[in-house]
Amino acid sequence: MKIIAGSFRSESNSLASAHPQLSDFEYLRGEDIFRKLIVKDLFTEAGFTVIPSIYAASLPSGTVRINFFEYYAGQILDTVRENPDADGIWLYLHGAMEVDGIGSGELELLKRIREIVPDSCLISLTLDLHANIPDALAEYADIICAYKTAPHVDQEETQIRSAKALISALRNGVKPHTAMVRVPMLVKGDTMLTAYEPLRSLEEETRALEAEDGIYGANLFFGQCWVDAPNTSASAVVSASSAERAEALAKDLARKLWATRKDYRFLIEAEEAEECVRRALSGPEKRIFITDSGDNTTAGAEGDRLELLSLFLEEKPSKKVCVAGITGKKIVDEFGGLPDGAPVTLPILGGVPASILSHGEILGWTKEIIGRSLAFSVGNVDVIFTEYRSAFIEKGNFDHANTDLPSYEVVVVKLGYLFDGLKPFADRELFALTGGTSCVELSRLGLKRIVRPMYPLEDFEWDPA
Ligand SMILES: [Zn+2]
Repeated sequence: MKIIAGSFRSESNSLASAHPQLSDFEYLRGEDIFRKLIVKDLFTEAGFTVIPSIYAASLPSGTVRINFFEYYAGQILDTVRENPDADGIWLYLHGAMEVDGIGSGELELLKRIREIVPDSCLISLTLDLHANIPDALAEYADIICAYKTAPHVDQEETQIRSAKALISALRNGVKPHTAMVRVPMLVKGDTMLTAYEPLRSLEEETRALEAEDGIYGANLFFGQCWVDAPNTSASAVVSASSAERAEALAKDLARKLWATRKDYRFLIEAEEAEECVRRALSGPEKRIFITDSGDNTTAGAEGDRLELLSLFLEEKPSKKVCVAGITGKKIVDEFGGLPDGAPVTLPILGGVPASILSHGEILGWTKEIIGRSLAFSVGNVDVIFTEYRSAFIEKGNFDHANTDLPSYEVVVVKLGYLFDGLKPFADRELFALTGGTSCVELSRLGLKRIVRPMYPLEDFEWDPA
């Protein structure tokens, strides 16, 4: 028996203007994809022949341009066309890819695959739990398995679960039914943490369901609020051998998730920008991080907002401050040819006298060097500009920018929650509720196409009936 394997992931932020570029994608094809996907041994040991397609995964960005979608989806479709006798297709997608002029990229890809393969070919999906599930996705996917952790630490475990479910269904000659129930809530992603209640118990329940015979996937999706689309919301999705059971369980999970909607709040200090700056400059801790959540490049934002930088410059702090990873191609182009130490006037905030601190490079999302960075000093405030959008998620980003992370007492990064790679350097973490295209305040996003009513924009009674 034959299984096709591949991955195409780009989490979209339809409010953001920075569309994913080629340099944003980590791209592998053929056998190389198994450097990233861990399911090959599982399939071969179970006696299946595995046909590799492609692996393409990008930094979250604005909507995917149609030519990029066609380029990557086209290669997966080519693999499917070349193997019309495949018994199964295993795909690792995100679930919040929004393609210009198309809508859900995942739904479009599956529709096109179904035009090639017969119904007997089983499609198994691995998805992020921040997916916005389109209504029709369940018609095309036989098995859906989502991460069960946020922040995500079970990406590999989920690949294995969806692969094992596919193997089991193929071996037993079962064609599972997938049921999806949309839950009209969009709670702040950074407050929905699975290590804590109520989600810990709810995810535990999905695990227990998956241990039952005839259940191929039991999932809660939290949704991703930065896509203005009718499929943007939470949902519950169950794949089971019987359609009735899948439907009943999905409704039950949906009810339970809805019942928790008012239980989520920040577990770290989440404050307006001014208050974060005040606390960072007066706090006794050795090193305090502030995340600029409204301009979070790992949520697709542009990373070019100067709100926190300008607040720190006004303060003229005695602490050593670093503002890391501001997108600024013009600045890198204009001053990149000058030597370290050169005095300049930065063309921002009405003109800021500064000196060049260091020339460096951008360690990209895919761990490759994707461009140049330039760091400047303004008194005790150092600021790193990058010629392309970047995400400072670990010390390596600061090293490549030729800046010394441990020497700073306050560090600003364009993230929501701090990534694990930075946590060892943070004695305290402040979550700044800033504006921008990854603003966490749903009411400030101006979404027009989402289903209404939607909690928390409206408070109302709801039941999946
Ligand atoms: Zn996610």
